[in-house]
Amino acid sequence: MTARIYVDLDRVHPVFDGRWHRAHLRRMPDPGEEITTLCGRVEPVAYGALAERASLLLTCWGCDLVYRRQLGIAVPRDHPGLDGGR
Ligand SMILES: [Zn+2]
Repeated sequence: MTARIYVDLDRVHPVFDGRWHRAHLRRMPDPGEEITTLCGRVEPVAYGALAERASLLLTCWGCDLVYRRQLGIAVPRDHPGLDGGR
């Protein structure tokens, strides 16, 4: 028997440099596999328990901006990503 674990890939957010990012994932990447975030960073994947994650993470505004545009979500005029802010 197999115990399946179902994951909502839209809720899987890569974390690095103290920020959470977004990526279009079609499946859970293998450890060490490189993924490209919406802001264009390419990073190898590693997994950890949620309890190991830093409690304070910042938003990657570059990823947020791309995500909003792709889904037709309004982008406020003062969105930090418009200034190239991460
Ligand atoms: Zn990002």
